[in-house]
Amino acid sequence: MPDTPGALVTGGAGFIGSHLVRELLARGYRVTVLDDLSTGRLENIAGMLGAGGAELVCGSVTDLDLLERTCRGMRYVFHLAAVSRVPLSVAHPVTSNRVNVDGTLNVLLAARDNRVEKVVYASSSAVYGDNPGLPQHEDLLPRPVSPYAASKMVSEHYADVFRRIYGLPTVSLRFFNAYGTGQNPESPYSNVIPLFVRRLAQGLEPVIFDDGEQSRDFVYIRDLVRAALLVAEGSAEGALNIGSGQATTVNRLLELIGEIMGCAVKPRYEAARPGDPRHTLADVRRAREIGFKTEYDIARGLCEVVPHYAARDSSS
Ligand code: NAD
Repeated sequence: MPDTPGALVTGGAGFIGSHLVRELLARGYRVTVLDDLSTGRLENIAGMLGAGGAELVCGSVTDLDLLERTCRGMRYVFHLAAVSRVPLSVAHPVTSNRVNVDGTLNVLLAARDNRVEKVVYASSSAVYGDNPGLPQHEDLLPRPVSPYAASKMVSEHYADVFRRIYGLPTVSLRFFNAYGTGQNPESPYSNVIPLFVRRLAQGLEPVIFDDGEQSRDFVYIRDLVRAALLVAEGSAEGALNIGSGQATTVNRLLELIGEIMGCAVKPRYEAARPGDPRHTLADVRRAREIGFKTEYDIARGLCEVVPHYAARDSSS
């Protein structure tokens, strides 16, 4: 099908990637997933492979030859593959650098060589680090505080450099705290929402690090995927925050989850984890300028997500 636009999604078996793959297929793209299944799971994309329309290439972004081949004929590359957990990057900074920085450089080289029309890079709000400025605007000085955050920032610089000197269109999306179905509660680094649901479903105390008054900008996966497609198909380039522009404290988050599950919440408080920022909040003005606005606030998003996790936890 030579006229069907192709999209390569690195890390497409992961949480965000699998949602993106589903949406790309729904919009008629020919999708290839490149994933080494290190944190991603086949079950996330199983129904989308083969007759479902997507192809899976099992391999690593550290393999430049493989990337040169899989980028062939692609219109867009969504580069999500990464060592995506901060604690893992702290324990293994060399691996984090090899996958997150060398891997990104390989993706950019292959995209340039294959004349890809746009590379959408999954960066992170972690690049703001301990810069106290709020809300976090794209022009704020990045102050990464983990190998993960440093690798995201370096990769953004490479994406910019490829745009400037090779004319490869690139955009770096600084995702804030994404949530939705398909996040793995088994992982020790799992997102707080499936963890809270699991503890409550099991009648256990949810654990909150610090006093719970730290806040996060939670962005629902459906909004995030819409943003990724908007920037791919549009003309935006450079760095762009993808958040809701709303701050929610961890205490409030737990309260909302308890209300949806109809149970009383009594958290156990433990010491703050080093490297966790006190607050994150996206300045969403630049996103609005390109026509992006979230449709889900945290209460609405949780109403979709919490029953899904609660049903799974009560049947397991
Ligand atoms: P995830 O761990 O679920 O997905 C990452 C995927 O990359 C996995 O499928 C994994 O198997 C794959 N991968 C890892 N190393 C690879 C390699 N060497 N070669 C090929 N594939 C490899 O994480 P996610 O939450 O879906 O995050 C996706 C991207 O978005 C990551 O780059 C992450 O840093 C970024 N991000 C996520 C969030 C969030 O809240 N989830 C926030 C900011 C940024």
